[in-house]
Amino acid sequence: MVPISFEFYPPKTAEQHAQLDRTVAKLRDAGPDYVSVTFGAGGSTLSHTPETIQKLRTGGLDAAPHITCMGGSREEIRGLLKLYRALGAKRLVALRGDLPSGMVSAGELRYADELVRFIREETGDHFHVEVAAYPEMHPQARDSQADLRNFVGKVRAGANGAITQYFYNADAYFRFVDDVRKQGIDIPIVPGVMPIANFSQIRRFSDLCGAEIPRWITQRMLAYADDADSIRAFGAEVVGQLCRRLVDGGAPSLHFYTLNLSKPTLNVLSHLR
Ligand code: FAD
Repeated sequence: MVPISFEFYPPKTAEQHAQLDRTVAKLRDAGPDYVSVTFGAGGSTLSHTPETIQKLRTGGLDAAPHITCMGGSREEIRGLLKLYRALGAKRLVALRGDLPSGMVSAGELRYADELVRFIREETGDHFHVEVAAYPEMHPQARDSQADLRNFVGKVRAGANGAITQYFYNADAYFRFVDDVRKQGIDIPIVPGVMPIANFSQIRRFSDLCGAEIPRWITQRMLAYADDADSIRAFGAEVVGQLCRRLVDGGAPSLHFYTLNLSKPTLNVLSHLR
C-alpha cells in the first residue's frame, strides 16, 4: 500500500466541528502520512484554516495548511507563513485560489508560481511546498500545452511535489506524468482522489473544475436514481479500481478529498486493500 493523505475543509459551525471530529477519529486509524486543510480565498481573517491546523496538530496529526494568493496581499501571506511556522507546520499546499463572487481585486500575486516564489523568498527551504496539477487541464488554461508550461513554471519556482485535481480517467494522469517527465521534472505527482458518495454533488463539482466523469459511470449512476446504497457501492468499487490502477502504474501516494466524511474514503480504501 502506498502512503495516503486526507484533505479536509475548515469547519465553521458547531455541527461542522463535530462532524470533522468524528471523521478525524475514524480516518486516523488508516494511518495518513499527513492531512491538509483547505483555505477559503478572501484573506486570513475570513479563514478558519489556522485554527483547524492548530487543533489537528495538537491532536497529533501532521496537518498541512493550503494557502492561496487570490485576493490577498503579500503582508497577509507573510503573516500566515509566520503563523504556520509557529504552529510547527513544515508542509504547505500553495494555490492561486479562485476569486470569490463579489470580490473585485485579484490580489498582489497573480498566479501560483508567484506565490511559490514568494514563499521561498520569505521562508527559504523551511516548507515542503505542494502545488496543484491538472491531468485534464485547468478550465481557464488557453490550451493543454500552455497549462503544462505553467505547471512547469510552478515547479521551477520551487515546488517539491504536486497533487492533482481529481479525475476518473487513469490514462489522463499517466499521460500528464509522462509529459511532465519529458520536461525534466521529477517531483512526485500525487493523484487527488474524489470518492463518489453523492453523485449529483460530484457532477456539480466536476462541471466547475473541469473533471470529466466518463459516460459509462454517469449512465450507471443515473440508472440507480435514488438508490443511495447502490450509488455508494458502485462509487466505491469504481474509485477503488481507479486507485488500484494508479498505484500499479506507479503513483507515489494517494491524496483523498474527504469532504469531511469518513465513510466514502474508507469504502474506497477497503477496495484498494
Ligand atoms: P495556477 O497554477 O496559478 O493556474 C491557474 C490558471 O492560470 C491555469 O489555467 C494556468 O494555466 C494559468 N496560469 C498559470 N500561470 C500563468 C501565467 N504566468 N500566465 C498566464 N496564465 C497562467 N482553491 C482554494 O480556494 N482553496 C484551496 O484550499 C484549494 N485547494 C486545492 C487543492 C488541490 C490539490 C487542487 C488541485 C485545487 C485546489 N484549489 C483550492 C482550487 C484552485 O485554487 C483552483 O483550481 C484555481 O483555479 C487554480 O489554482 P492553481 O494554484 O492551480 O493556479
